[in-house]
Amino acid sequence: LDPKELRREGHMIVDFIADYYENIEKHPVLSQVQPGYLRKRLPESAQYDPEPISTILRDVQDHIVPGLTHWQSPNFFAYFSSTASTAGILGEMLSTGFNVVGFNWVSSPAATELENIVMDWLADMLQLPKSFHFSGNGGGVLHGSTCEAIVCTMAAARDQMLSQIGRENLGKLVVYGSDQTHSALKKASQIVGINAENFRAIKTTKSTEFALPPELLRSTICSDIAKGLVPLFLCDTMGTTATTAIDPLGELCDVAKDYGMWVHVDAAYAGSACICPEFRHFLDGVESANSVSFNPHKWLFTGLDCCCLWVKSPSALINSLSTNPEFLRNKASDSKQVVDYKDWQIALSRRFRALKLWLVLRSYGVANLRNFIRGSVEMAVIFEGLVKMDKRFEIFVPRKFSLVCFRISPSALSINDDDGDANGMIKLLEAINASGKAYMTHAVVGNIYVLRCAIGATLTEEKHIHMAWEAVQDHAQAILISSPC
Ligand code: PLP
Repeated sequence: LDPKELRREGHMIVDFIADYYENIEKHPVLSQVQPGYLRKRLPESAQYDPEPISTILRDVQDHIVPGLTHWQSPNFFAYFSSTASTAGILGEMLSTGFNVVGFNWVSSPAATELENIVMDWLADMLQLPKSFHFSGNGGGVLHGSTCEAIVCTMAAARDQMLSQIGRENLGKLVVYGSDQTHSALKKASQIVGINAENFRAIKTTKSTEFALPPELLRSTICSDIAKGLVPLFLCDTMGTTATTAIDPLGELCDVAKDYGMWVHVDAAYAGSACICPEFRHFLDGVESANSVSFNPHKWLFTGLDCCCLWVKSPSALINSLSTNPEFLRNKASDSKQVVDYKDWQIALSRRFRALKLWLVLRSYGVANLRNFIRGSVEMAVIFEGLVKMDKRFEIFVPRKFSLVCFRISPSALSINDDDGDANGMIKLLEAINASGKAYMTHAVVGNIYVLRCAIGATLTEEKHIHMAWEAVQDHAQAILISSPC
């Protein structure tokens, strides 16, 4: 590693990235390549001789960029956004540059201590109760994803419960969520050894806007207990993936408390909104939960990967996840005065993720982060208004944040069955995405196929909202003309 070369080549890469952003709107948002395209273009094996970065960069431009779906395009409205920012990119560069491996405090004290501090700052910004702060005997950790956060909290809940009822009862433990809960919950329950039959995805309906009804949770638990099963873990979602439904946290925690269950709050996308006082009420009830997580890599200017997880009882996590091999022994860990994050996560090695989050928080400040969230929501309000003005369309569920779920009204399609509606919507979505002008995705909720316009990409401005809506209208027109009357 030659610092002079790093400087020269690093500048080339920064220029390349800046050029990419300057020209990002020239690319079709959804990559238009076919499966296997890259193998046809690259050599069959690695070159024996070194190649200059300029040659490699040319190949990135010619072969990699066409195979990218441009998540940072202002016309990206799919899934939930993954917001890049200057501070996030530079923070990532710093942490990659240092490339420290902060598995325990001594392995890089700044990595651990900055993470402690940043997690407390964010806990403050979200007005999480003191019990989730380090100073309140709780604490926060950065994981790569919500999936990992749920695996770890469920493992902690499992071991805490089995220490009371005996490990031989693993097969009796039951996990609860709704049919709208992210598949992360199912994956976690598979990983931590929950019986496949003991996973409950409680049915939601449009009448409760696809939120999990507390009375249904209670009746499901009661029937499980009657069968000799043991309720273990509830995942409450604050902002579901399909429609941003809000499970009623306070009431669900009341039910869970009666049965001694662990409650995890998955606020992966919508958690970011709660830094704005006007959205914070969506987290009311969190004081009764055991753990809560959200992804700044979705809507808070921090590049992948970054999931914030707070727990009230770090010792539950540590009891479940710690190992103490001799080669890691050191005085600081023995003193129990420090956090060793290796015991708060799955892997041993860990990235210095706190650095990029710290740069984001400092470079934008809470004020601008709030402005960004509000800006996304305002644009969603505009998009929602455009949908409402066109009688051929309907909003599927009331918008809460920056996601708008909509569809062509069945009456406009002149088809009276859900399959026919879905076929029309699938065609519409494919046409929009093939145009390259915008990229949206879909959800099927309560058997209804809806389009999702998820606003929140860093570069999206109001004009992009209008362009996206024009793309929807243009392609819908073609479908409506060809649809039977
Ligand atoms: N939970 C919710 C509500 C989500 O919307 C998502 C992703 O969109 C996830 C979990 C998964 O997050 P991750 O990819 O960080 O595991």
